[in-house]
Amino acid sequence: MQQQPMAPSGPPPQSQSGGDLSLNLRPGSRTTSAPSSPAKTRESLLQRVQSLTGVARDQGASILGAAVSGAGAVAGTRPAYNKDRCFTLLVIDDQNTDWSKYFRGKRLHGDYDIRVEQAEFKELTLVANAESGTTVSMAVFRNGTKVVRSFRPDFVLIRQNLRDAGEDNKNLLLGFKFGGVPSINSLHAIYNFQDKPWVFAHLLQIQRRLGKENFPLIEQTFYPNYREMLSSARFPVVFKVGHAHGGLGKVKVDTNSDFQDMASVVAVAGSYCTTEPYIDSKYDIHVQKIGPNYKAFMRKSISGNWKTNTGSAMLEQIQMTERYKMWVDEVSELFGGLDICALEIIVAKDGREFIIEVNDSALTLMGDSQEEDRRHVAELVAHRMQAFCRPALTKTTSRSSVSSQGGIASPIEERPLSAAGDLAGPPTGSPGPPQPRRDSQASQSSTVSSAPSVGRRPEEGPRSVFGRQGSTTQNGEDAEDTMKNLRKTFAGIFGDM
Ligand code: ATP
Repeated sequence: MQQQPMAPSGPPPQSQSGGDLSLNLRPGSRTTSAPSSPAKTRESLLQRVQSLTGVARDQGASILGAAVSGAGAVAGTRPAYNKDRCFTLLVIDDQNTDWSKYFRGKRLHGDYDIRVEQAEFKELTLVANAESGTTVSMAVFRNGTKVVRSFRPDFVLIRQNLRDAGEDNKNLLLGFKFGGVPSINSLHAIYNFQDKPWVFAHLLQIQRRLGKENFPLIEQTFYPNYREMLSSARFPVVFKVGHAHGGLGKVKVDTNSDFQDMASVVAVAGSYCTTEPYIDSKYDIHVQKIGPNYKAFMRKSISGNWKTNTGSAMLEQIQMTERYKMWVDEVSELFGGLDICALEIIVAKDGREFIIEVNDSALTLMGDSQEEDRRHVAELVAHRMQAFCRPALTKTTSRSSVSSQGGIASPIEERPLSAAGDLAGPPTGSPGPPQPRRDSQASQSSTVSSAPSVGRRPEEGPRSVFGRQGSTTQNGEDAEDTMKNLRKTFAGIFGDM
């Protein structure tokens, strides 16, 4: 690892730490990969290449593992959990990380497994009902077939940004809250992270309490719209337009005329904007807290981009100082508590430090210790699930008993869709008016597995289970629908009947 000259106030690099060399493509709402370090010696280059191949191997294995477990589910092979004694954890993340492997073998309340379902925000839809809670549907591909899986999550781990440029998943968040689904970070905290200026305003509160010396925030100006954007007292300034991640909407402006031009772009964007002085930086520092575990990293651009989260960058784990710990501890108290958070600090050429932002549980994991970080996240989640997810007193073991007896369960239903099938509308059998069948094959080829995750969250009262009832053919309308579909199918084969 190339040793960087450190700022006087900066911490010394840890000797055991290392960076890895990778192309840091824009992560978007994704948060998995580490940025990079240049290799100086042949040996270190080798180490880094190994580190990269390790990552590639892990990711390949993850994807393969996901595919195999998915195929197993469809083919009816034994799942890696006891379907009668399990709680369902929904992890909102993309497929680059197979979260199920971090929960394998973890048990709650003695012998309850954690069943992991994983999907991105864009693959999810849900229906939330005051009585039955939140029923999630997600579209996944199994052996080239699109399958919709419906289940009731007992817990959610949110590893994707709720909002980003052109993306807004607030409605899903509302649905989780409506059903009282516990999560990491808490839904309340995630809700509060929807607007960067809102989070920054809370950082300002901390600064007012601790003083500028003890909590050195960058000096930001907030503009609710372009009309207030006249000029800046000094240049260069950094525009941060709207709420976006991965460097999107961040523009460095050097002159007054460019400022005017940017104001006109803000007008078109129809969003709020903040400006702050551009810091000619030596490097950034990232201080992360995952439950009780702290880490600090130094990140320096090697591709010359002023945004170190764009292009390639060098990364090195550094010592966690008391000062950084105090900052991240203060921040982790926000919004009723942040189980997972990270502070981003810019260190100027003269060594001065400026806190620029805080990220939530969707934070980017960095460096060679990502694997360890994910294990820490899994431990935190399991610990929290142990507290929130309680085994039900009476357990329902079959779908029919769920329908007839009421009681509580998180039945899981798989439903293949035609290639044209989509997730529009609530899942079959979810509360609400009966939904038209999407295709005639649905009733013939769907595999309905009963995997009640028998959890009941302490804050919830007894739920009547009607989430799945609508999908049975007991329902008159549904039966009629099926007949229509059958007729259509046979008409397709034999001509009109
Ligand atoms: P994230 O994905 O972490 O949410 P983002 O889109 O919010 O990123 P910032 O972290 O605010 O963007 O900025 C992106 C990068 O730009 C920072 O990592 C830093 O390297 C650089 N940067 C941001 N603000 C400044 C500034 N005021 N002066 C100099 N560099 C800055």
